Amino acid sequence: MELSDCTSCADLREVVQITSPGQLAQAIRVVRGHLADGTLVEASRDIPGYLGLLQERGPWPDYIEHEFSCSCCGQRFRLVAETYHGAGGRWEPVVEARGTRSHVVPAA
Ligand SMILES: [Zn+2]
Repeated sequence: MELSDCTSCADLREVVQITSPGQLAQAIRVVRGHLADGTLVEASRDIPGYLGLLQERGPWPDYIEHEFSCSCCGQRFRLVAETYHGAGGRWEPVVEARGTRSHVVPAA
């Protein structure tokens, strides 16, 4: 575990399984709250404001996948939910493998 000691996103750094529409609504509500107070910023730049369009109680798109990052430490988080099949999904911190882009060896 190499996650930061940032206190801003400490509560967000645990995986939350989403197994019901109620839990998805709760997750969206929490995320929207953090976006509103600036704790999180949207990292999925290609679809700005996407989550803001979602209704707290649905209807939702069949599939939701959205990334956010902590405005303090940059830790990334992902909200994934497949609403079509019964709202199965999860909230999780995105843990990138370290060292994969630290040494770029130029081609000989
Ligand atoms: Zn943080």
